[in-house]
Amino acid sequence: MSHKLKVGELRESYLTDEDIWRVFTIVLSSKSVKSSTYKYALIKSLIENLYQVNEQYELTYDQLAYSFTKIYWNLIIHHNLDKQNRGMSARVTTILKDAKSKYGIPSDFIFDKIDDAIQVKVVSEVKKTMKEHVFGALYGDTKGIFYAFNHKGEYFRLNPAVHQFMLNYQRLVVNLTNYHMAVMIEELNEVQSINYLLGKVESIARRSSLRPFEQLLLRHFEETCFYCGKILSDIKRETNVDHFIPWSFVQSDHIWNLVLSCKRCNSSKSDKLPERHFLENIIDRNEELNNKTTDQAVRNMMINYKEKKIIMLYDYSIKNGFDAIWTP
Ligand SMILES: [Zn+2]
Repeated sequence: MSHKLKVGELRESYLTDEDIWRVFTIVLSSKSVKSSTYKYALIKSLIENLYQVNEQYELTYDQLAYSFTKIYWNLIIHHNLDKQNRGMSARVTTILKDAKSKYGIPSDFIFDKIDDAIQVKVVSEVKKTMKEHVFGALYGDTKGIFYAFNHKGEYFRLNPAVHQFMLNYQRLVVNLTNYHMAVMIEELNEVQSINYLLGKVESIARRSSLRPFEQLLLRHFEETCFYCGKILSDIKRETNVDHFIPWSFVQSDHIWNLVLSCKRCNSSKSDKLPERHFLENIIDRNEELNNKTTDQAVRNMMINYKEKKIIMLYDYSIKNGFDAIWTP
């Protein structure tokens, strides 16, 4: 488990922007989110300290812990968003709530207003948690190529290429981090006042029903599950229409990306990619669909289809963080 590490060396020094985007995309995506919002808070802390690095691109744990504590204080105490972990309560929530009651700090105080001496004590508590759960975890998620860290010397050294990248794309990186952190906080803190705007924006373009596609596919193909081959019976409403490449990546419904599947495969696949050999099967299926030239509706829907498009989509979705592969 990488979060148990006490030291992490930089694994690679030369990185292109594309290499860094690749890792970033995966780190930020919900696919690699562990149980808490910690890594987002660490990325935000890093960005806040981009201009504080020394000649060796180093930051101290104290610098990062200060930003990290401030972020969480304002979220947890000031905004009352205290659920920051999927399982039990995040350690940082406990530390901050304890400090609030111990020192009698009012809830409406933002972190800057707290007495300096108390700030130092709270930051030092939070720093211990960061050593246990944060530095090593993000190091693992970034495959050891973003930064080195050392618990004993309490220093954190950024890969110069990553530092340069963050300066170049700071605004984008901030927006992406904020978005993903907000989605997770929204999911964890189910309260009326939030109103789930992010979820609404995310799915606003989704179709309400794929029924017309289902009927079209049923007109031309046997009623079997594309993945497991099970015969689908209409009586139990077993027939589902599945996006071969997940909707959350393609964000559209093309007939050449839709297959009939059983309920079980559809729900266990969820928004994962099917194993690569299914790509050949869907290419064959689409070839058949292409040959249904007498069906005007099908012809219209296949007009811009090319075999290479679905292969490209498959490969791009992996590059974009859809790297969990599913088998029935
Ligand atoms: Zn199935």
